[in-house]
Amino acid sequence: MKFLLAALIWSFALVAPVFAADAAFRQWLDELWPAAQKLGVSRQTFDAATRDLEPDLSLPDLIVPGRPEAPGKGQPEFVRTPAEYLSEGTLTRLTAQGRKLAGEHRAALAGIEQRFGVPPTILLAIWGRETNFGGYRLPHNAIRVLATQAYLGRRKDSFRQEFLLALKMLDEGQVRLADMRSSWAGAMGLTQFIPSDYYRYAVDFDGDGRRDIWNSVPDALASAARQLVDKGWQKGLPWGFEVRAPQTVDCTVAEPTSTLPVAEWVKRGFVPAFGRKLTAAELAADASLFLPAGPYGPAFLTLKNYYVIKEYNFADLYVLFVGNLADRINGGGPFEMAWGKIEQLPSEQVAAMQRRMTELGLYQDKIDGKAGMKTRVALGAYQKANGLKVDCWPTMAVVRHMQSKPGPAQ
Ligand code: CA
Repeated sequence: MKFLLAALIWSFALVAPVFAADAAFRQWLDELWPAAQKLGVSRQTFDAATRDLEPDLSLPDLIVPGRPEAPGKGQPEFVRTPAEYLSEGTLTRLTAQGRKLAGEHRAALAGIEQRFGVPPTILLAIWGRETNFGGYRLPHNAIRVLATQAYLGRRKDSFRQEFLLALKMLDEGQVRLADMRSSWAGAMGLTQFIPSDYYRYAVDFDGDGRRDIWNSVPDALASAARQLVDKGWQKGLPWGFEVRAPQTVDCTVAEPTSTLPVAEWVKRGFVPAFGRKLTAAELAADASLFLPAGPYGPAFLTLKNYYVIKEYNFADLYVLFVGNLADRINGGGPFEMAWGKIEQLPSEQVAAMQRRMTELGLYQDKIDGKAGMKTRVALGAYQKANGLKVDCWPTMAVVRHMQSKPGPAQ
């Protein structure tokens, strides 16, 4: 009996903070009602969507009081090497599926291209990358995800607005609560729209009166096309293409703001892979150099449309995956140059590197542990300044070099 009582007290001690969190969450939800009402959401919809709602503490990117900050799994775009992320097996499979779907949806895709100027292959590639052509079962309920992120997430304000818009979607009957499946960040449907994307871009392309990004391929792909156009898609130009870089290439010019017309890059010794013939429009277009694996893999000239796709998911490997998949669906294949063997530095080490380079005035961007283009160009500058081999590629050797010379900037 004594034991039982102790066990009871012990279990209350464990459970109590959860009750407290729930009460606070409930109160937070109730305080959102006026804002929801202002958007036109009915009390009935609000109650039905929030009645049994509890925060999902297993989601990434949360700040939970009293819980040590989880290191996080990290986005695959930043923890995998390019060769891992651009898995040959996955790309081959998605290419075959994409070609088949291009045939099945030929008429709709042609109509979308005519109206928006975005080629079918790009839209198919985004669909394939985002949801495996609708084959993924999205793991979460969007309402719960958005409420949790708005309550405990790192970007509370933007998620609060997304949560309210999600309630509006429900209220208008755009989607049923049970069909609101989403990613951990609340993206829904075949091409992964958050609610504000839905209101900004969703298109009823098949003309049935509903903007159905969940079940209608024409609607979902037209919506994606509209979003790309809004972000500045340039009709008739590619995302980019692979080039053979000259031996003397300086990796510190491989960043988005160092742009030159394609013709100028060609003059400087960058040769299109596979003997690709460039059109007059391509030669005149501005491009920047992208070296996803530094000098240890293929090089690319990226055009404006590359950055337009990047608005969809802000990761270079994502864009490269979509671009290459689109090219493959169009008859292409793997890159001409193979990926070399490289290590992907853990994000804590990359963050340490970013902090040190910030102290030295070489780096002005976020300390996010992601070895994006700006980080790697700064690293190249560090290597130049210290007489190291300049490859702009983060390795433990460079981390150790930075640690061996702490102190203030010279
Ligand atoms: Ca429709």
